[in-house]
Amino acid sequence: MYSENIIKFDQMKRYFFDQDTSIKFLEYLIGKGTVIAPHKKGETSYSFKKVDDVNEVVFDYSRTIQPLKKFFLPPQETLLNFNLTDNSFSEPEVVEEKKIFFAIHSYEMQSIRRLDYSFTKGNPESNYLSKRENSCFIGISFEPDEWHFSKSVGIEIEKLEGFCLFFEPVENGHLVFEVNETGREMLSEFGAGVLVDTPLDFEITDKHFKAKIKYHYNRLPQVFEHVYHSKVWDKVAEKCVGCGTCNLLCATCYCFDVRDEVDLNMINGKRERFWDSCMLNSFAEVAGGDDFRDKLSFRTRHRLFRKFKYITEESGELQCVGCGRCSRFCPAQINIVDIINDLIVDYTEQQEKQVI
Ligand code: SF4
Ligand code: SF4
Repeated sequence: MYSENIIKFDQMKRYFFDQDTSIKFLEYLIGKGTVIAPHKKGETSYSFKKVDDVNEVVFDYSRTIQPLKKFFLPPQETLLNFNLTDNSFSEPEVVEEKKIFFAIHSYEMQSIRRLDYSFTKGNPESNYLSKRENSCFIGISFEPDEWHFSKSVGIEIEKLEGFCLFFEPVENGHLVFEVNETGREMLSEFGAGVLVDTPLDFEITDKHFKAKIKYHYNRLPQVFEHVYHSKVWDKVAEKCVGCGTCNLLCATCYCFDVRDEVDLNMINGKRERFWDSCMLNSFAEVAGGDDFRDKLSFRTRHRLFRKFKYITEESGELQCVGCGRCSRFCPAQINIVDIINDLIVDYTEQQEKQVI
């Protein structure tokens, strides 16, 4: 029997692109705006960057080191320039050209949706939003490795929300699905590829995730209601070195620090913001030297509660998208799926004790 995803895909217009057609399509996209896509970085790593040579774009990749957020919330950004002589200041003019993000995985797309929520609620954040405008996303399927667990947080590999087109690898090329009107216009203007009108005869959704959370994602907020005092936090803190990599590479973390720098002439200066990490000791330090989260166990708990409870209670969505970066790049091999599964065991034991 066909799954819901297969039926959804089967109703969409689709084209077959062989490798040459995909390359020509990338050349066509470059004529429409700045194209950003995964590239190889070193032997085994990948990075999103502007496409200068279409032949360097990688279609089949695990994950990039830095997430897509770097294009909307750069690691370092000037917020304003100031002059101390006349006390004037000006905001740098942000001119954003059209950006097309190519070969994007569904968890990455969903991370941008989470950031959209955080940067639009309350006071909308204009720096983020101006970069976000005029961008479109073309998705691609992927083979999960031992760190991906996006399905466990409710994000299927073929989740199409946010994409205009979606590439699914098939023998000798890709099926390209028209997801929305923007995608339809692109394919119509491009005018190549072979229209496929036969029923789909392959199982799209059957890719196997090795990393899995033991509970359905709907139950995770309930678990987090009961694990604030869990012993798991101390267990993780014994291994953690507090380097902050997990936050800095997280697809949905957005905390930043703001600093004013004055030039050597003591007249001009600029206010800049930098990515920050709640796993760093300095993050919760306040005047007088107090630190609200001076223990690594407190900081780890805060990091996880930001993903599975605090923002989730407001937005209704888990803030972890299961990209696996925090586990893959943690120097202490701390795995977020193991933490959650340990918390589930702790929660289950608590529930059993209550029944007895
Ligand atoms: S990356 Fe690993 S070691 Fe570094 S702060 Fe995060 S959990 Fe701790
Ligand atoms: S918490 Fe880890 S797995 Fe979840 S979105 Fe952040 S980096 Fe990815």
